[in-house]
Amino acid sequence: MIIVMRPDAAEVEIEHVIERIRGAGLEPHVSRGVKQTIIGAKGDETALRSLPLEATAGVEKVVPIMKPWRLASRAFRPEGSVVRVGEVEIGAGAFAIAAGPCTVETRESLLETARAVSAAGARLLRGGAFKPRTSPYDFQGLGEEGLKLLAEAREATGLAVVTEVRDLRHVELVARYADCIQIGARNMQNFDLLKEVGAARKPVLLKRGMAATVKEWLMCAEYILAEGNPNVILCERGIRTFEDSTRFTFDVSAIPNAKHESHLPVVADPSHAAGHRHLVAAVACAAVAAGADGLLVEVHPRPEEAVCDGGQALLPADFERLARQVEAVRAALAPVGV
Ligand code: PEP
Ligand code: MN
Repeated sequence: MIIVMRPDAAEVEIEHVIERIRGAGLEPHVSRGVKQTIIGAKGDETALRSLPLEATAGVEKVVPIMKPWRLASRAFRPEGSVVRVGEVEIGAGAFAIAAGPCTVETRESLLETARAVSAAGARLLRGGAFKPRTSPYDFQGLGEEGLKLLAEAREATGLAVVTEVRDLRHVELVARYADCIQIGARNMQNFDLLKEVGAARKPVLLKRGMAATVKEWLMCAEYILAEGNPNVILCERGIRTFEDSTRFTFDVSAIPNAKHESHLPVVADPSHAAGHRHLVAAVACAAVAAGADGLLVEVHPRPEEAVCDGGQALLPADFERLARQVEAVRAALAPVGV
């Protein structure tokens, strides 16, 4: 950490800061310039994080050196991480698509969708059993019954299951059925939920909050990693802007940005960003061209009957085309890299 003193800082104020650094167990290095004094603090910076040095007399600014997402940082694992979801690898060159309905509806429609997306090349099945709905009057999900149907669809197709946990009290239950636990955008900063899935021994797909910066997103990943769960996949799903012709604005730069800062795999959800079926494939291709390690796509065999998000659900045939387009983008970039 570097502490820059004000030009008019008194000697007694400089000495006070030096003492506080020593008191926290770090070694102060004082550099007295013509106009200002700068104090470097060598040692474990975490000890200084709780000291209000910014508020100390004579201090102009405090510059932390350590990133607050140490375990998530690229420096922690420069080669990039591969996360295994069931038998499927994601990250560091391994690419996979999760597809399925917004929410689990019936046994028949889930199995039909699972078989169709599997035939089109998806390796994972998505579908919510606990849905975070904006209105309390909207369908909230089938709960454990939905989890059982997802497990049955896994048996029938071999697809690994990604499904959301919405509540701290359901983590154990969801982890029992899922291959990967999804944290939705609305819960990205639910820190207790993050700690709970950090203690679970299942991979976690962490969606970016709709009003969260990339840095905030990485700090949320850090919560999970710090609990001892190294299997975190980041998912960009669009952010809220003034644009209202799409559901959210897909932040394509967040993908290379997060991958530059972090070793964690980054996937993209073009469905919730676009909000309209006709935009989904283009957003998916853009995400893949930007280096996404996978996709999360909503598919429904009869979107007009979908209980939620029918307007953005792809028909199986559209999904099949998207999967081929994505393969073409990957193949085109393969010789030169992303
Ligand atoms: C979902 O993927 O089912 C979902 C609700 O997405 P988000 O949390 O990104 O809104
Ligand atoms: Mn949805």
